[in-house]
Amino acid sequence: MNLQVCVPDSPCMFKCPFCISHNRNRQNYFENRTNESSFYFAALSDAIQKYNIETVVITGSTEPTQHPAFIRAVGKYIKTYYPNVKVELQTHMVYAMSLDYKYIDVYAFSVYTSNQIDNAIKVCIPMTAKKRVVVLVNDQLKLDPVQLSKFDQVTVKQLQYGDDMKVNKWIAIHNNFHVETISQLFGKIPSLFIDLDCRKAEGRYLILRPDGKIYHDWAEAPRKK
Ligand code: SF4
Repeated sequence: MNLQVCVPDSPCMFKCPFCISHNRNRQNYFENRTNESSFYFAALSDAIQKYNIETVVITGSTEPTQHPAFIRAVGKYIKTYYPNVKVELQTHMVYAMSLDYKYIDVYAFSVYTSNQIDNAIKVCIPMTAKKRVVVLVNDQLKLDPVQLSKFDQVTVKQLQYGDDMKVNKWIAIHNNFHVETISQLFGKIPSLFIDLDCRKAEGRYLILRPDGKIYHDWAEAPRKK
């Protein structure tokens, strides 16, 4: 079981056209005080023990690298108290040539154009951490096995419809996810996963939001204090 650890909520610097967080009503239920927040680390520790967590995935409804202090604080806590638990950072920051944090075991680059895959490869070259690429399939990228083989692991994701009509329209036009085409990549890439619905949490992951509470589903919203 993985634990998705959300960075503090804030508007995202990117404008991915399929983003289901665009119109999110962001609540200021958390002040960015993770460094001194014992309540937060107590919740993190409880969750790791109670649910036998193997990997902590730093993610959120925004770009996680907008909160470097949070990433460092969580990474340091895990490596100090739970050295066997892996720390993964999910990011769309494929343009940053020096994305290198201490305590991160796995980087997962989320991409939706062929250009972004190229940039992620460039960012990866000097890294010693494990590199994953999460490909959001659409007609703006080509699934090139040579390019994808540069990563330790490839996850191919289907875009998800939500309640934003503009986003849904974009997906309807650009979606070209075909399991048969993707299946042809098996054997050509060292490690390939197909994710048909990344929002299906059951049996896969739990979510720890910055309010220090565990959620079983992304749809469960934190309550206003
Ligand atoms: S990086 Fe993530 S949160 Fe930001 S716009 Fe893109 S999909 Fe949305």
